[in-house]
Amino acid sequence: MAQGNGYSYTHTIDGQSEASERGFGVINPATAEVFAQCPDASREQLDRAVAAARRAFPSWAAKSFAERREAIAAFAHGLAKRIDEIGPVLTREQGKPVGQAKWEIGGAVHELEAMCTEELTSELVRNDGKHRVELVYHPIGVVGAIAPWNFPIILAAHKIAHGLYAGNTMVLKPSPYTPLATLLMGEVARDTLPRGVLNVLAGGNDLGQWMTEHPGIDRISFTGSVPTGKKVMASSSGTLKRVTLELGGNDPAVILEDADIAAITPNIFRGAFLNAGQICMAVKRVYAPEKLYEPLVEGLTKLALSHRVGDGFEDNVEMGPLQNKMQFDKVNGILEDTKRHKGARITAGGHTLNRPGYFIAPTIVADANDEMRLVREEQFGPVLPVLKYKDVEDAIRRANDTRFGLCASVWTSDFERGAEVAKRIEAGTVWVNHHVGSEADMPFGGFKESGVGRELGHMGLVSYMEVQAIKVPVA
Ligand code: NAD
Repeated sequence: MAQGNGYSYTHTIDGQSEASERGFGVINPATAEVFAQCPDASREQLDRAVAAARRAFPSWAAKSFAERREAIAAFAHGLAKRIDEIGPVLTREQGKPVGQAKWEIGGAVHELEAMCTEELTSELVRNDGKHRVELVYHPIGVVGAIAPWNFPIILAAHKIAHGLYAGNTMVLKPSPYTPLATLLMGEVARDTLPRGVLNVLAGGNDLGQWMTEHPGIDRISFTGSVPTGKKVMASSSGTLKRVTLELGGNDPAVILEDADIAAITPNIFRGAFLNAGQICMAVKRVYAPEKLYEPLVEGLTKLALSHRVGDGFEDNVEMGPLQNKMQFDKVNGILEDTKRHKGARITAGGHTLNRPGYFIAPTIVADANDEMRLVREEQFGPVLPVLKYKDVEDAIRRANDTRFGLCASVWTSDFERGAEVAKRIEAGTVWVNHHVGSEADMPFGGFKESGVGRELGHMGLVSYMEVQAIKVPVA
C-alpha cells in the first residue's frame, strides 16, 4: 500500500480505489527527501481505466449539458470542502507556499464552474429556402489528460471541466513529481461523479506514453514541455487521436517609454516570480527603453532582495523551492552560463540558498544580452533578465525572435497604443499592463512551438467535440 503524510494514496479506476504492486517515492522539494509513496499504475490498470471510461461514455454523453453541469458542480463542491486538507499535500509535493496551494485549488473550484456555461448542441449555418445546413456537436469519446508539475490541480481542472462538460469521459495522469493532490482529487470524483467518468492514475512518463498510444483513447489533452509535446504528437499519430498541446513559453514583457515604472514594477515582478517562476506564462524576458531602464532594474532588485523564500509551511513565505532536482540543476546551469557573459550584472540573488532543498534566491540579471541561455531558453525558475532596447521596432523584433509564442505583455499609460503593439507580438495571449492568469472565457494556447490548439473559452469547448455538418432539403 502506498502511504505517507497520514494518507494512503490510491488510483481511481471505475469509481473504486486501487493500489498498485509497484510504487515510487515522492520528494518534498523543500527538504529533498522522500515523504510519501505513490502507486505506479501498470499497463493492465490503464487498460481497465480506459475500459471503464468507455463503458461510462454512452450514458454520460446522453446527459444534457445542464445535467453534466450539475454533476461537475457537485465535484467542484466536493473539492472545495477538502481545500484545507489537500492544500498542504500540494505544498509538500510541489513546494509552493500553503496559502498559494489553497488558492490554486480554490481557482480550480472556480474554473470548474465558470467553464461550464455555454451549451453547444447545434448551430444553423444556412437556410436558403432550398436547404438547411446545420452543425451538430458530438462528444468525442475517451480523453487522456496529461498534466505537469507546476500547477497540478488547476491545469487538471481545465481539462476536466471542458472534457467532461462536452460529454466525454476521462483518464487523468498527473506528473510523477506531483501526483498526490491529484489522486485526492480522484477520491472526490469517486464520491461525486458516476463511475468511470473520471479515472485518475499515477505513474511515470511511460504511463503517459501508453496513453498516447492506447487505441481506446480518442483524444489527448497534454500540458507540459515542448520536447515532450513533440513526442506526444508523434505517438498519438498512430491512432490519429485529436491532440491539444499546451507547451512552454519564453514570454516577453515590453515596456513602452510612457509606462509608470513605479506602478508597474511590482506587477512585473509578480508575473515573473510567482510559483518561483515555474509558470508557462510567467514573464521570462523584460525589454525596457533606455530612459526607464535603471529605475526598473532598481525597483525589481529591491523587490527580489526583500522577497521571502522558504519552506511553504514557514510563516510569511512568498516563494518556495524549485519543484525538482532536474529543474534546480537546469536553472543553476543557466545561471552559470549567465555569469560567463561579460557585462551581465547580477543585481540580486544569483545563488542557491544554504539549506537542504532546491532553493534559488530570486535573481535579477541586468544588461542581459540576446545570446545568453537565460534569454534564448525557457528558464522556468526565479531568474529574470532585463534587456535594453533602442526603439519599439527593435523591442518587437527581439520579442518575436524565438520559437516560443505562448504569452506576452505590453506596459504603457496609453492602453490603445499598447493594444496596437500587442497585435504585433507573436503570442497566443498578450496582455496590456498585466501578465499571468487564465480566464474561463479567454481561449488559451500558443503560437509557434508553444502549442497546438486552444484550451478555455468557446474554442476550448469545441476542441473536445466532433463537429458534424448536416444538409437537409427544405420541404
Ligand atoms: P514534461 O513535459 O516533462 O511532463 C509533462 C507530463 O508529461 C508529465 O505528466 C509526464 O509524466 C508526461 N510525459 C513525459 N514523457 C511523456 C511521453 N513520452 N508521453 C506522454 N507523456 C509523457 O513537463 P513538466 O516538466 O512536467 O512541466 C513543465 C513544462 O510544462 C514547462 O515547459 C511549462 O512551460 C509547460 N507548461 C505549459 C503550460 C501551458 O498551459 N502552456 C502550463 C504549465 C506548464
